[in-house]
Amino acid sequence: MTTGPQLFTGPGDLHLHSNHSDGTEAPARVMRQAHAAGVRTAALTDHDRTTGWHEAGDAAVALGMTFVPGMELSAKHEWRSVHVLGYLFDPADAALSAETDRIRGDRIGRAERIVRSISRDYDLTWDDVLAQTAEDATVGRPHIADALIARGIVRDRTEAFDGILHPREGYYEPHYAPDPLTAVRLITEAGGVAVIAHPVTAGRDRMMPLAFIERLIAAGLGGFEIDHRENTAQGKALLREIAARHDLIVTGSSDYHGAGKPNRPGENTTSDEMIARLIERGTGSAPRYP
Ligand code: AMP
Ligand code: FE
Ligand code: FE
Ligand code: ZN
Repeated sequence: MTTGPQLFTGPGDLHLHSNHSDGTEAPARVMRQAHAAGVRTAALTDHDRTTGWHEAGDAAVALGMTFVPGMELSAKHEWRSVHVLGYLFDPADAALSAETDRIRGDRIGRAERIVRSISRDYDLTWDDVLAQTAEDATVGRPHIADALIARGIVRDRTEAFDGILHPREGYYEPHYAPDPLTAVRLITEAGGVAVIAHPVTAGRDRMMPLAFIERLIAAGLGGFEIDHRENTAQGKALLREIAARHDLIVTGSSDYHGAGKPNRPGENTTSDEMIARLIERGTGSAPRYP
């Protein structure tokens, strides 16, 4: 294996999902799609799961890309769902694995409760959802959306999320997730770099309070995912200011989910300088080079 900064030059997309969570494509195919879109450094960041790393890494290096192992860890601040991207952590870390096991386990019962509730009003069964879920995938509302599509109840995931899966419709159930401070500490203590995913999406109340963000920084937060299609322009400006003040890493990525979302690989990218800083700082696992 060779290493060197010249090997990770080119567009970096550090937020991609496969069917090990709620993406619609196998890890190798995700890497091929990213490569075809011009991406040259790619991270696989499935929700609460790292099982796609091996396949994705093999595919990425075969295509001449640099592979950065990652994950999107589910967390919760009060009632807000917060996603914490972790990069280059040790996937065998006991504390982090125990937490992801707990989250994934709880997501199953939660999805079953949502489906039971929907089934009172619509023709939908748990088997329909299982049919849409790759073996052992981190199950989520997107899989329920796919089951609703297969039943002809909605046209696509967007329609499902705007309707039946929206909390206002009354079928929503939360799942267990750690506090963001715990999430940041677990990733950092596993040798990884924690980056808050899409921190400033529309709807003011969806952003964590600034004082709490300062606490995350004090706890070891590595950076923010700023260039993401769901962040607001105002929010991005604010985060850039905070990142500059604390000398944090800033990333840009697509949050590709295959056919599950309109997001395309490479639609937002991370600079070589920021990728270098991430790789410098993450010590729990190694990037893979072509
Ligand atoms: P869950 O974690 O089970 O509550 O589901 C949240 C996931 O649903 C997120 O990771 C997104 O990838 C996905 N999601 C949220 N909104 C939409 C949408 N409008 N269209 C497609 N996928 C969505
Ligand atoms: Fe997702
Ligand atoms: Fe997310
Ligand atoms: Zn994501």
